[in-house]
Amino acid sequence: MQEGKLVIFSAPSGAGKTTIVHHLLKQIPQLAFSVSATTRQKRGEEVHGKDYYFISKEDFLHRIAQKEFVEFEEVYKDNFYGTLRSEIERLWAEGKQVIFDIDVEGGLHLKKKFGDRALAVFVQPPSLEVLIERLHGRATDSQEKLKERIEKAEKELAYADKFDIILKNDDLKTACAEAEQLVSKFLGA
Ligand code: 5GP
Repeated sequence: MQEGKLVIFSAPSGAGKTTIVHHLLKQIPQLAFSVSATTRQKRGEEVHGKDYYFISKEDFLHRIAQKEFVEFEEVYKDNFYGTLRSEIERLWAEGKQVIFDIDVEGGLHLKKKFGDRALAVFVQPPSLEVLIERLHGRATDSQEKLKERIEKAEKELAYADKFDIILKNDDLKTACAEAEQLVSKFLGA
């Protein structure tokens, strides 16, 4: 098996990491997105196998027992998320480098596991206040879910300096350009 590199983007919910990851996927053809498995409900336009593998809790627990995950977490209460080993291997076998949109703990797990083969980037929002504003702007979350996301975000901001790089996202366009530069450099090295 030919082993490639891993590009990890982690951040609190609402920091802009998904937009940055989508930008990179468009600009850098070597990259392919690691589709995570999750037990949460599908939202809006999401597609099974593209955004996530939407699976039942029973299936998820079975896969944990079978040691199919490189990392997994109960990111929110009763909602499991995890990276399947088979997903990374599938993309490497295609000759791709793998990019992850994953929560802060999961990102640090992967970094620990893959060491120098992984670049771990923490996307930092301008402030907690701005983050809360952005989360309020999302129509998809209930009040209870919103509260949970804000509480988690507060905790996650404290982990920034454990990452290889902190990417400030005060301005999305600038952050995307900076991300492109640093990922290209890492992949070219
Ligand atoms: P959402 O429900 O908004 O799609 O994702 C919630 C959080 O779970 C986000 O921070 C997302 O990056 C993270 N996440 C997505 N996939 C995984 C995964 O495979 N493992 C971990 N640990 N977190 C994930």
